[in-house]
Amino acid sequence: MQKRLFYLLFLVFTAIILSSWGFYAHQQINRLAVFTLPPEMIGFYKKNIRYISEAAINPDRRRYTVADEAARHYLDADHYGDSAIQKMPRYWKDAVAVYGEDTLKTYGIVPWHINTMYYRLKDAFMLRDPSKILFNSAELGHYIADAHVPLHTTENYNGQLTEQEGIHGFWESRLPELFSGDYDFFTGRAEYITNPQLAAWKAVADSHAHLDSVLLLEKRLTQKFGEKKFSFETKGKKTIKVYSVEFSTAYHNALNGMVEQRMRAAIKMIGDFWYTAWVDAGQPDLKELIDYEPTEMELTQRKKDLDEWKAQRFMVRPEGDN
Ligand SMILES: [Zn+2]
Repeated sequence: MQKRLFYLLFLVFTAIILSSWGFYAHQQINRLAVFTLPPEMIGFYKKNIRYISEAAINPDRRRYTVADEAARHYLDADHYGDSAIQKMPRYWKDAVAVYGEDTLKTYGIVPWHINTMYYRLKDAFMLRDPSKILFNSAELGHYIADAHVPLHTTENYNGQLTEQEGIHGFWESRLPELFSGDYDFFTGRAEYITNPQLAAWKAVADSHAHLDSVLLLEKRLTQKFGEKKFSFETKGKKTIKVYSVEFSTAYHNALNGMVEQRMRAAIKMIGDFWYTAWVDAGQPDLKELIDYEPTEMELTQRKKDLDEWKAQRFMVRPEGDN
């Protein structure tokens, strides 16, 4: 019994470590996407930029409490064969006809879920509902950001099949936290997307194209660094094992701008999607919504969600960090 409980805790704990991008990167990406927007949109988004940034991590908070949530964050493209990513049906109905819904939900649905979220955001604009516009914008931003991470496109998502456990958080959390201060995040103005579903697929396919380098370069450097791969850092009262700064720097250099490029592409695409949903909804006047303040009920709900999540984190994270 004890053993089973421990195993369960371990699973949940590992799962939480495997959140998408780091929380820090997700918040940055959503925040920066605001600055790609045209004058008709930017005022409303800037006014709510704190919510847009903070809510960027909500889908990850839900991953272990909502049954359908996890699959929305990834696509295990290699499950379907070697170059499957080029050949897989782009539209949900066609994909269901080939693979069946259960299989798709097991191996991830991120490109299709991005499209679903685009429609939800478009509907929110059509309803001129500020709360729904913000909610769906923030959530859509999360899934688009996830689609830009190479390790979100493979069954070997944490290097567990190639003895590289930990590489997931290393690439998408530790590297941005150490190096994104030097990135150039000027991406230019949001542009209209003619086909959101195909755009989502392009992001996933581009990510997948980087996968071999992500794994191979880490493997090579691991051989070179030996035990210098890891070091210990003190955070508060805890001392934790981390990828050493030297190893992180060497890997980051070897990746040759990849993390920056994927973050930039995510920021730009989020802006593009927000803008496209707004245009397709008939360009509603967002200045009319600028005085929006969340109602007491909305604030209470947000607080409740946060408390539940904190309680859950406390339960499953007796030690360590992510
Ligand atoms: Zn995620």
